[in-house]
Amino acid sequence: MARSKIRKSSAGSLVSAGRRMTLNPKVARRSFLKISAATAALTGAAMTTKLTGKANAASGKTGPYSGSETVRTICTYCSVGCGIEAEVHNGVWVRQEIASDHPVSRGAHCCKGAGAIDMVTSPKRLKNPMKKVNGKWTNITWDQAIGEIGDKLLKIREADGPDALHFNGSAKVSTEMAYLHRKFAAFWGTNNVDHQARI
Ligand code: SF4
Repeated sequence: MARSKIRKSSAGSLVSAGRRMTLNPKVARRSFLKISAATAALTGAAMTTKLTGKANAASGKTGPYSGSETVRTICTYCSVGCGIEAEVHNGVWVRQEIASDHPVSRGAHCCKGAGAIDMVTSPKRLKNPMKKVNGKWTNITWDQAIGEIGDKLLKIREADGPDALHFNGSAKVSTEMAYLHRKFAAFWGTNNVDHQARI
């Protein structure tokens, strides 16, 4: 959280982005920040281990795939640029490891990066547009999805102007997709755009 977004209220609580956290007055500000940083680091390390393990376990295989190759690449989920060792088998990304010697990540990923392979292998992955029809999620075509959503967006803009909309990004899109998302908001005509970009 950016320091500029945090202010201390007269009641001794921290007010940030609309949230309020009550502090023990005996805990000095410096101690509070140290405790928060340590907690975040421990939680992050635990999640990284758990999620990387999950990605490995999901494949149901512990040894390398026969004939696979290891490709060193970069996590695309934020601009930090942590290193990934991707195991590629017959052109398909089948497993990931942290590039432990990478100068940026230095042996760790955040939970987003640790689960990066889910974008390829997760059974929950959305593969086509869906619409809730009579209370049931139903597959629809891209043409139908783009047509219906586009018509609704244009109606909103005609009635209330471009600032009636806020474009909210996702922590699970790549840096390049986030760039396109921001471009789309700009062409739409609003500055109402945000994206959880880096840890
Ligand atoms: S999303 Fe996480 S793992 Fe990926 S580059 Fe950013 S900090 Fe590193």
